[in-house]
This record gives sequence, C-alpha cells and structure tokens, in this order.
Amino acid sequence: MDAAMRSIPLATPNIGAAEEERVLKALRDGWVSTVGPDVAAFEEGVAAVAGTPTASATASGTAALMLALRALGVGPGDTVLCPTYTFIATANAISAAGARPAFVDVDPATWSIDPEASVATAERIAERYGKPPAAVVVVYPMGNPVDLAPLRAVCERFGMALVADAAAALGATWEGRAIGLLADATSYSFNGNKTITTGGGGAVVGPPELVARVKHLATTGRVGRDYDHDVPAFNERMTNLEAALGCAQLARLDAFIAAKARIADAVGALADELGCARAPRDARAARGDWFPALVLGAGDPPIRDVIASLNGEGIGVRLFWKPMHQQEAYAGDNAAGDPQARFPVADGLWERVLVLPSSTHLSDADLARTLDATRRAITKGRASRTR
Ligand SMILES: *Cc1c(COP(=O)(O)O)cnc(C)c1O
Repeated sequence: MDAAMRSIPLATPNIGAAEEERVLKALRDGWVSTVGPDVAAFEEGVAAVAGTPTASATASGTAALMLALRALGVGPGDTVLCPTYTFIATANAISAAGARPAFVDVDPATWSIDPEASVATAERIAERYGKPPAAVVVVYPMGNPVDLAPLRAVCERFGMALVADAAAALGATWEGRAIGLLADATSYSFNGNKTITTGGGGAVVGPPELVARVKHLATTGRVGRDYDHDVPAFNERMTNLEAALGCAQLARLDAFIAAKARIADAVGALADELGCARAPRDARAARGDWFPALVLGAGDPPIRDVIASLNGEGIGVRLFWKPMHQQEAYAGDNAAGDPQARFPVADGLWERVLVLPSSTHLSDADLARTLDATRRAITKGRASRTR
C-alpha cells in the first residue's frame, strides 16, 4: 500500500523474534497454565522494575486492582474513592471487589484525583453510610506518577488505604526511584496497549505480606496439596504462556520507555509550537510516558472534527477517558451516592484531550506524518473559525 495512506494505529504491541522463541519454548515444554518457570521469572522481573521484594502476576490489570483491594480488606459494604477521569477498569475493579466506587474530580494541574475534593466526598460518604470510605485509588494519568503526600494525609485522616492504579506506568520513577512502595499496594496492566504486554495480564507490587495475600487470593486460596482452601477466593493468576511473552517484553522495557519518551518529546514540541497545553508531568516523575496528548483550547476547532479529519487520513488519534460519572454503567446505585460532587475538570478534559499514536515501533516517517497531519488539522480548523 502507498506509505502515505497506510494507517497508523494508536498503539499496537511490539512483538519480535525473542517473544516468539520464549512463548514457543513454554509451549513445547508444556508450561501453559498458571504453574511454570516463566511466571516466577516474570514476577521477579516486575518486582525488580517496581523496586519491591516481590510481585504477584494476575490475569489482567482489573484483576490486579481488585485483588489488591481485597487483600487490603476492602469488600461488600465499603466505599472506595477514585478519580472520575480514568479508564473504566478502575471502577470495575472496585465493583468486582464488592465495594462501591465514589467518584471525585481531578486536579487540573495533575489530572489526578483532587485531594481537597476527596476530603469533601469522604466526609459526605461518612455521614451518609455511617463510615468513611475504606480506600482511595489514585490513577497515574498517562503513566506519570504524581505526588502522593497530599493524598496520604487525607488517607491518614479518614483511616483509608491508598492503592495506586499504575496500569500504564511500568518502569516509571518518582524522584529517581522506583514507585512500587509509594502506596499501600500498586497495580499494573499488561494489556495490548500498555508499555509492555503479556496479551492480557497484570501484577500487584507492594510490601511482601500484601503481595503474598494477593497471590493467595488469586490462586483459589489454596493451603497445601489436598484440596484445602481457607478463604473464598479467585482464579486470576497469570498463565505461564502469558508470562513467557512478558519475560521477553521485560527485557526490552528500557528501549520501549526510550521510544515512548521520544514520541512524547516530539508531541510536546508540537504542543508548544501550536500553543496547546500537554498532559501534565511533575518534574519529579520520569520514564512513565504512555500516550502523548494535546489539549485543545477555546480557539481550536471542535475535537471531534480534528479526530474525524485525522482518522480520514488513517491516523489513529482518539478522545481519551470518558469520565466515570458520565457512564451508564455507574449511574444510580452502582456508584456510592455523593449528590454534591461536581466534576468540571474531568468534563473539560473529556472534551479537549486528544491522544496521538505512540506504538514503541512507530517509525520516524510515521511520527513525522502524524505530527504534520495534526498540525494541519488544528491550524486549518483555527483559520476557518476566525474567518
Ligand atoms: C489499562 C488500564 C487498566 C487495566 O486494564 P486491564 O485491561 O484489565 O489490564 C486499569 N486502569 C487504567 C487506568 C488503565 O489504563
């Protein structure tokens, strides 16, 4: 096909010969299910990247977050605060744990759950349900870690656990250090569009006792070999086939992070040139770039027009995260009621944030074509608006 018309997807996995070889070896050795050498090796590798003693690999990022909450004692009758600006997996994990999510707006400076609004919602939840929320899930937006100190203070005030949904932040650092021990538990996703992939998968990192509880809950709560189980549990462990793929991907993590950073820098330069804002990244955060984003402003063409025009050229730009309070799935009793909560920041981001292609194997030519087409779509729209 003509290179100029070839489509450029938002993000596709970067799979090579090393991945083929490792998965084939697992298959040929018969290690296909949840027991096998690659699961242990993958967990060791994830723990090393996260800066934790151990990790527990799971069937998905959703399962990782759900199990982290369960391992921290969250369950039916509990409320869990989470940002309304996130992927729906965050809210689904809270529901799957048996709890109800209560949505909180994000801070415009960080795109992360607003600590002050969290206090207000925690107070109203405590009044309404007779007890404060059991936990807060903080999401690292676009893979970039945020300062947890203000949120930690809120958690201490209400006795809430702090869980980090670091789905897209594998390898990210805060103040130069790995992020796996910043919250009480941290979850990752290895879905196909994340920094590395296992097909589908996730992991929980944190203190060793917490990780051990997650692993126990993920593997049917088994104690010993004779069909003894001590808690109602789950079958949510990663399989060895997936872990084999993950091991090969982990070996390339630094290269993937460098590729993402290069794309983020190029999109950042375009944002500066166009006078658009970009996704926030704290100066203390590094190595977390997942999707690069441009924030359209009041003088820019409608975001759906920009997307339609770029999609028409085969460039896979998209809207990002529709807020949870706008989702039918979380209308009514599926979320904890906090009728006074307002979400102006998230509502604004939903209408203004444009994410650009960022596959780690995006070629220089395709990156340049993406940037050129985006520049054209936005400036052309501006010209027709001022006419
Ligand atoms: C991808 C993602 C998840 C988890 O997704 P899975 O598909 O279940 O692995 C959770 N939270 C956020 C913010 C994500 O982007």
